[in-house]
Amino acid sequence: MKVLVVGSNGQVGQRLIQLLNENNDHTVRAMVRKQEQAEVYEKQGIEAVLADLEGTVDSIAEAAKGCDVIVFAAGSGGKTGYDKTLLIDLDGAGKTIEAAEKAGIDRFIMVSAIQANNRENWHDNILPYYAAKHYADRVLESSVLNYTIIRPGILLNEAGTGKVAAAENIAYGSIPRDDVALAIVASLNEKNTYRRAFDLISGEDSVADALKKI
Ligand code: NAP
Repeated sequence: MKVLVVGSNGQVGQRLIQLLNENNDHTVRAMVRKQEQAEVYEKQGIEAVLADLEGTVDSIAEAAKGCDVIVFAAGSGGKTGYDKTLLIDLDGAGKTIEAAEKAGIDRFIMVSAIQANNRENWHDNILPYYAAKHYADRVLESSVLNYTIIRPGILLNEAGTGKVAAAENIAYGSIPRDDVALAIVASLNEKNTYRRAFDLISGEDSVADALKKI
């Protein structure tokens, strides 16, 4: 599959690009918003395209044209205000979903957040972030796209173990970004993840086994 990664300069995004670049079953196009970020990838022989989630749906659709799947791994991050949470985590995700429809791309993988579907478990100090993730996921679920919504626990930069737990309802947990990237790649062709949403944390199973057990 040819995969467009939205948020390719991010911490999960960078790991995902490297995994996909090494994978013989897939090819990758990195969507970034700055020329210098594109050049870093192009120097490694990785295709890159410029587009901004604050831009138009058409510009995102153009960036995605020719791909078979879009992975949304972008986010406004913790250092910006809630205006950007709304514009990137919610509207940026919504525009990317519209762009997939416009570009005729059926498969869509969303990197959401653990328990985004369950208001009772939202952290009090980041309620607007959870609200943005929640509604972005709901837009995707009500689309006709063949989606997979991965809701990882707290993201860690320690080395991945390749061992995870995936289920529709895991109250809390954490996971290395390496393992989130592995789970995204493994989900691409895993039919058990089609039109499904699940929480993902560190666990006991290989990624492939965990995705089959959801
Ligand atoms: P990250 O390192 O902050 O990366 C986010 C990426 O989004 C950055 O590369 C950023 O681009 C890009 N982005 C921001 N605004 C953009 C725009 N207007 N147009 C295009 N790209 C834009 O995030 P991460 O740590 O890899 O997290 C990946 C995902 O996991 C996010 O959706 C996050 O919400 C979610 N998540 C995080 C946690 C956690 O514990 N942190 C837990 C669960 C889920 P620049 O590099 O140019 O700034």
